[in-house]
Amino acid sequence: MYRPSGHGYIEAVVGPMYSGKSEELIRRLKRAKIAKQEVIVFKPCIDNRYSKEDVVSHSGISIRAIAINHTEEIHKYITGETQVVGIDEVQFFDEGIVDVALELADKGIRVIAAGLDLDFKAEPFGPVPELLARAEFVDKLQAVCVKCGAPATRTQRLINKEPARYDDPIILVGATESYEARCRKCHRIKK
Ligand code: ADP
Ligand code: ZN
Repeated sequence: MYRPSGHGYIEAVVGPMYSGKSEELIRRLKRAKIAKQEVIVFKPCIDNRYSKEDVVSHSGISIRAIAINHTEEIHKYITGETQVVGIDEVQFFDEGIVDVALELADKGIRVIAAGLDLDFKAEPFGPVPELLARAEFVDKLQAVCVKCGAPATRTQRLINKEPARYDDPIILVGATESYEARCRKCHRIKK
């Protein structure tokens, strides 16, 4: 779809883990750079999966990013020149991220936000439902279910290779934790 530059709007890219959200975010941002647009990318400090200052996809492609602790920090990096703002792992920000995205879009900036729509319990994740409602453009991506090969819309949390319980703490000392892409049928939550 043709999206004129200089017009602000919000694009949301969501889906489970491994659905290619980071890949898609990086693709859009790299194309904006090719178009010589002023691009800036943010991610929350929590995600240091591969690199502190890069958004890195599971397939290995990456783009420079600024790791921030609070949504308000975004403002101090925005200049009159900024045309495109990328945000990865948007689910880890507080609700304030939606207001920041709206403010930037109102100023004429293209905001592209990528993140998980659902947590491992398949429940809406943090500020993402609000973001989806407010965004002009929404893309829900699917991964491939590791169990059956169907399109995967959910993220399976595993603790010591077993499906996590509904109320398992977010941080488990001494346990090995992993995540898989699964479809609705293969996704398990122990009550
Ligand atoms: P996300 O940001 O949504 O977690 P990434 O962009 O980091 O996704 O990674 C997507 C890449 O992950 C795919 O291009 C593929 O190479 C790899 N991948 C690994 N496991 C799967 C899976 N189960 N389904 C789809 N892609 C997968
Ligand atoms: Zn499945």
